[in-house]
Amino acid sequence: MAMLAPRPSILSVEPYVGGESKLPGVNRIIKLSSNEGAFGPPPGAVAAIQRMATEAHRYPDGGSKALREAIGARFGLDPARIVCGNGSDEILGLLILAYGGEGTEIVMSAHGFLMYDITGRWAGCRIIKVPERDLTADVDGLIAACGPRTKLVFLANPNNPTGSILPQAEVDRLRAALRSDIMLVLDSAYAEYVDRPDYDAGARLVDATGNTVMTRTFSKIFGLGGMRVGWGYAPAEVVDVLNRVRGPFNVNAAAMEAAVAALAEPGWVEKNVAHNAEWRLKVTEALTATGIKVWPSQGNFVLADFGTADRAKAADAHLKSRGLIVRMMGAYGLPSCLRITIGTAEENGLLTEALGAFMAGIRG
Ligand SMILES: *Cc1c(COP(=O)(O)O)cnc(C)c1O
Repeated sequence: MAMLAPRPSILSVEPYVGGESKLPGVNRIIKLSSNEGAFGPPPGAVAAIQRMATEAHRYPDGGSKALREAIGARFGLDPARIVCGNGSDEILGLLILAYGGEGTEIVMSAHGFLMYDITGRWAGCRIIKVPERDLTADVDGLIAACGPRTKLVFLANPNNPTGSILPQAEVDRLRAALRSDIMLVLDSAYAEYVDRPDYDAGARLVDATGNTVMTRTFSKIFGLGGMRVGWGYAPAEVVDVLNRVRGPFNVNAAAMEAAVAALAEPGWVEKNVAHNAEWRLKVTEALTATGIKVWPSQGNFVLADFGTADRAKAADAHLKSRGLIVRMMGAYGLPSCLRITIGTAEENGLLTEALGAFMAGIRG
């Protein structure tokens, strides 16, 4: 008897494994594996979630109107051109659902964010990964990889997990060189952490072209990963398409209120940016001093390169024995690396101390 089978591309996807959060036998866990932000959720967001508990029987506003207006006011964008999602992952998936599919191709950088690859396979797209230069997206390579079936090019800028960023002129050059019927998706999940004066998170290119989309998230600097809220800013035609393919209540009511409150939290972004800049530098310097190569990062994490996969594995085991959880990078094609989220001052101190001891052990 023939068994029911999914579309073949579905079985090419490995089930997603998130950052670990538990270690058997270890009491105090320090989780630096998912770039969640050092300070937890903003207090105003916590209050909003509590407030919404008694409204849990009500369906949310399917149009996310209050949230879109708050985002628009904060970033100077037209709320009508914003679509909110259950995390920015949902927006990425909706774009692929609407514009990709069987017989189409997605172009991305070799060590780009994995959800483009995973979601693309769900939809049956062929995924083309373009080799990088110094763990940075190669614009000429991305342009050259596009063929007649290419519908979408994804660029995380800054990129996770490498932390690398393309100069704005390179992003502009990429858009200008892509055919007009190819959508460029600029994933700016880490935009707030960037300290480049010329950086544009994507809104300018979205406005200047009819085929560019910017995605953003509340999961990183706004500390709301567990609530699942992200958004896209897109041309009106693309917004119309996204509103046709999204679920009618795709962002839940507590998440919406929490996100609005996070935007209103006084000094939150400034505090997080300052803390991250200080500790990204300190962690980089401390690890470099022990002999670990640290790739330059514009995000709230660093990519530590141990030279070999065996050494990265041993370092990970050493950290785990001390309750420190970071992210192994084999799935990203970077088996000699660990991605380490910037945590609180105390957490960062424990992390650098543990890796210092590990490296001293190797030197004997
Ligand atoms: C974390 C992350 C996202 C996804 O965030 P959501 O939680 O789905 O909003 C998207 N892109 C990159 C590059 C990320 O690192």
